[in-house]
Amino acid sequence: MTRIGFDVGGTKIAVGAISEDYQIIARRQIPFPTGRPYKEVARVMADLAKELTDRIDSIGIGMPGEIDNKKGLVIRAHNVQFYEVPFKDEMKNYFPDIPIHIENDANAAAFAELKLGSFKNCKTAVLLTIGTGIGGGLILDGKLFNGGMNHGVEIGHMRLDSRGPLCSCGNRGCVEALCSGSWIIREGKKAVIEYPKSMIYTRTQGNIDRVDAKLVIDCAKEEDPVAVDIFNRYIDNLSSAIASITALLDPEVIALGGGVSRAGEFLLEPLRELVRQKSFFKYPYKIVAAELGNDAGIIGSALLGEFKKEADE
Ligand SMILES: [Zn+2]
Repeated sequence: MTRIGFDVGGTKIAVGAISEDYQIIARRQIPFPTGRPYKEVARVMADLAKELTDRIDSIGIGMPGEIDNKKGLVIRAHNVQFYEVPFKDEMKNYFPDIPIHIENDANAAAFAELKLGSFKNCKTAVLLTIGTGIGGGLILDGKLFNGGMNHGVEIGHMRLDSRGPLCSCGNRGCVEALCSGSWIIREGKKAVIEYPKSMIYTRTQGNIDRVDAKLVIDCAKEEDPVAVDIFNRYIDNLSSAIASITALLDPEVIALGGGVSRAGEFLLEPLRELVRQKSFFKYPYKIVAAELGNDAGIIGSALLGEFKKEADE
């Protein structure tokens, strides 16, 4: 049994072949063919899958954005510029006899955590993938939940501050606008301009293009006051978002994935304490780093390709 999983993003297409025991046995990654029509992207992806293995039993595709996983439609995916695209049907042209499933990428990652990672044996769990934006995946009653109307679960676009910074979705003060890696970068860039004595300035030699989230977090670890201030404000934002989630769902586990989660306990420890303070329920919520890391997208898509087989046919 060989399942293929795609993790498609605005900058890359990653694909892996997954063995019977859920190991990635072959993988490839190419830059996303930006600006090309979806039919061409589908052809490139079909070729990639065929290069990986000559036996394919199922295909799963994870993509950022609003996905109708029942109809196999990409409704809105800004990062890849797909709007109302029947992507599953297009892939079916290349693999007419193989089950294909398409899913929001954070949903796919949450599904991987449920089957193999930090959500194993959980009934209620929330995944936040924190990178350039924020993706959210929700496990309810032991199953992946894609919203009551199947529109999705957009934790990144819950609103924290109606007068807050503009979000990629056009609204203001969304969780994504205040808790993503992009927020840390923006504050780091401001610091380079406003605080030439800060470590962020020294490390980047005053060049704002060199600021990334890891650099700011590293400077905070080394107790640079400017970076510590950014990091504290970041944890304040993120803990507010998570406290709201606990009020709504009272989840068993909250896992953080994506680049920012690599800060590990340096982030998680103060975050747990602030969430406890801000939550309605005063329990020490289990807030952990997602276990499957960058492979969650590939593995989750591949598993969905298999597990959703019946629903698809
Ligand atoms: Zn938003």
